[in-house]
Amino acid sequence: MARYTDASCRLCRREGMKLFLKGDRCYTDKCAINKRNYAPGQHGQSRAKKQSNYGMQLREKQKVKRIYGMLETQFRNLFEKAEKMKGMAGENMLSLLERRLDNVVFRMGLAGSRKEARQLVTHGHFTLNGKKVDIPSLTVEVGDVIAVKERSRSSAKFKSLVENFTRVVPNWLDIDAEKMSGKIVSLPTREDIDLDIAEHLIVELYSK
Ligand code: SF4
Repeated sequence: MARYTDASCRLCRREGMKLFLKGDRCYTDKCAINKRNYAPGQHGQSRAKKQSNYGMQLREKQKVKRIYGMLETQFRNLFEKAEKMKGMAGENMLSLLERRLDNVVFRMGLAGSRKEARQLVTHGHFTLNGKKVDIPSLTVEVGDVIAVKERSRSSAKFKSLVENFTRVVPNWLDIDAEKMSGKIVSLPTREDIDLDIAEHLIVELYSK
């Protein structure tokens, strides 16, 4: 009997890699990539056609958009911002993506996935430099302190997340697990980003 695979896992299977969209499940044997690492759909297991250059660029962009849960316009705007910054557009883009508040909350271990982080931020569970914040797309700066709002700290949800946190915290974040807070100590660089992304393909795509 066919087994139900939900939409998030189909996205990973389409991209042929773990995009970590479902929290804890992504780190277990239940992950669909561990079980069925081929594209979803009727022809998913047939031999893949050789992709054109454009096809590869497009897939890479889709993959990154899906990892960070962004829509096209939002993603394009972020890329344009990255292009105007000093340095390499692709690396700037990744750094800006990592600096999104929802991603920072995820990296701090205060949400199981970026999607959950976005929801928790929107619901007002966090503060930025002591003030309530509810904008997941906000870009954090060096020195910023992100914390779980005092009233939310006693919730079973956050306690469990902190107790069961096993992911590696990136070097650009300094975490205080007891206070459920984290400080941005430096800007994330390319070396800090542990994702298999060929950002030059996205730069090429948008440079057309
Ligand atoms: Fe599903 Fe997570 Fe595995 Fe992706 S990484 S296939 S979202 S369980």
